[in-house]
Amino acid sequence: MTTRRKFLKLSALSASLFAFNKTKATETISNLNSKQIKPVVLSTWKHGVQANEGAWKVLSAGGSALDAVEKGVMVTEDDFTNLSVGLGGLPDRDGFVTLDASIMDEKGRCAGVAFLQRIKHPVCVARMIMEKTQHVLMVGSGAQKFALDNGFKLEPKTLSPEAEKQYKEWLKKSEYKPMINIENHDTIGMIAIDANGNLSGSCTTSGLAYKMHGRVGDSPIIGAGMYVDNEVGAACATGVGETVLRICGSYLVVEFMRQGLSPNEACKKAVERLVAKNPNYKDVQVGFLALNKRGEHGAFALQKGFNYALYSNEINNKLFDSKSFLS
Ligand code: ASP
Repeated sequence: MTTRRKFLKLSALSASLFAFNKTKATETISNLNSKQIKPVVLSTWKHGVQANEGAWKVLSAGGSALDAVEKGVMVTEDDFTNLSVGLGGLPDRDGFVTLDASIMDEKGRCAGVAFLQRIKHPVCVARMIMEKTQHVLMVGSGAQKFALDNGFKLEPKTLSPEAEKQYKEWLKKSEYKPMINIENHDTIGMIAIDANGNLSGSCTTSGLAYKMHGRVGDSPIIGAGMYVDNEVGAACATGVGETVLRICGSYLVVEFMRQGLSPNEACKKAVERLVAKNPNYKDVQVGFLALNKRGEHGAFALQKGFNYALYSNEINNKLFDSKSFLS
């Protein structure tokens, strides 16, 4: 039987959920600003700590979330020793490093670039597509030509020493199976809110190691690897992209926040949806990060082992372990 205390608790909860929904419908952004935690940046995995430093330089100087999420993940793209982001990443089955990235800002402007080769900063190419063209997605040689025409440099074909070593080892058996939490799939996804209360997101990866030549994952696809709605929140994903693509994962997380769920609950519900739609869920890892308009954040993963880095005025760039569906 519902006790009076439980009833009051439930009433208070419904009232606050109602208030939240009402807020979204009627309050202006300037009203919301007074309740926000800002600036905040969070990003996936351990490499997120260094990336957050790059983003925080922008945010703490009053810069935009858009600049922060671009500058932040550029740090990871620059790191030739990183085996899952940028040109140092593990190659596909045929020995090519092919990069995917996306970016989205508070105005809903967005773009992705996929299957891009020999260009150091795919996130900057994505931003240039967003700002200089009418398009939202460019791929392959056309995207590379666009980058070169716009001042990007063609980098050497060579694999990083560690990537080359691991690839040669892999070639001995050529067995393909994504490994849980091992660095053959560790995209950096980053979401941020700036001092003005605006949200943006970015995502960049060399994709699944030893994927088929031509395979594209979730990271460059707006709504799958990353999504931003400045009225509600932002989300990004990491892990086996095919499973995220099937549920439009980041868009789903944002939509759950729109319905009034906290960032944590929204990520958890998206993982539950992913489990329902992917019979192979026990063999893969996926993690989601979310940030709402108030600057509250959340995370949830399919398997244990997912972590993320958070930087705000209160939390000085720390790594946190995410909760997970499977223990
Ligand atoms: N999501 C990326 C992909 O499927 C890989 C990753 O996040 O680890 O390409």
